[in-house]
Amino acid sequence: MILAVSTPENPPSPAGGYRGRFAPSPTGPLHAGSLVAALGSWLDARKNGGKWLLRIEDLDTPRCLPEATGQIQTQLLACGLSWDEEVIHQSQRQDAYQRALERLNGLERLYSCSCSRQTIANALAKLGIEASRNNELVYPGTCRPTTLISNPTESFGELQRAWRIALPPNCYVEFEDLALGFQSQILNTEVGDFVLRRSDGLFTYQLAVVVDDAEQGITHIVRGKDLLSNTARQIYLQEILGYKRPKYLHLPLVLDEYGEKLSKQTLATQINTQDAKRSLMELRKAAKHLGLQNLPDGENITIAEWLLAATHAWRT
Ligand code: GLU
Repeated sequence: MILAVSTPENPPSPAGGYRGRFAPSPTGPLHAGSLVAALGSWLDARKNGGKWLLRIEDLDTPRCLPEATGQIQTQLLACGLSWDEEVIHQSQRQDAYQRALERLNGLERLYSCSCSRQTIANALAKLGIEASRNNELVYPGTCRPTTLISNPTESFGELQRAWRIALPPNCYVEFEDLALGFQSQILNTEVGDFVLRRSDGLFTYQLAVVVDDAEQGITHIVRGKDLLSNTARQIYLQEILGYKRPKYLHLPLVLDEYGEKLSKQTLATQINTQDAKRSLMELRKAAKHLGLQNLPDGENITIAEWLLAATHAWRT
């Protein structure tokens, strides 16, 4: 069962309805896959007369490239994908994540964990569960204490330990994806107690994204399907933190010739936004991938005109 919602600390519902966002991790410039997520979320926001925010998810500092944030912004603007409001950088929001962590601690939902990946794999092997090398490991609860307490705040800083959320039994989450329909996950068996703060002190994506989406009043999350399996965890965190649940729409992934998701790891090439003609070509490819039809295909069209046509063609 999902825990009852605790005291809501949600910001007041933003007047004016729809608020969407694009939240790239600046590990490199935009590639065809990230442009699909940017375009899809932008079109959905514009079609719904909403706001579209840009959030730079530079949380995993060792993986971020200092020049990528500027490159991403330049590429988006070259494609006519302008954002509303000030850009938020996760690297500057540690206090907000710490506050959320402390609230969860106050609710006696946290415990510290010293397991390495290998320790977890060994514990799973003992249980007869084979852990595949690249997949996430379901945490078997090795460090979970029998009685959960509110830990002293000082302990967050001093230990080289990760902090995990203690899931209640039968933590089943279901939601309706606007594109993919009904989705569900049993977090206990498919994920296990997950990490909110890593042993190196970095807050995890799961915690940061939930805090930021809530504090920015995001109502619609439109992003790549690679993030679908994170959604149940995020919904669960929203519930215990008393945040509103946004609507979700997961977009089709762009795969490379080997069927792998495009990413910096697979050496995806950056989109070419050298001039308006090339930017429009990239947008057209992204729109095709999103299944948009009957868009103007002439040469003598500006990006702004093309985006307007694409907004009309976008499903609601
Ligand atoms: N920063 C994440 C990524 O680039 C996306 C987060 C999200 O849209 O929820 O994969």
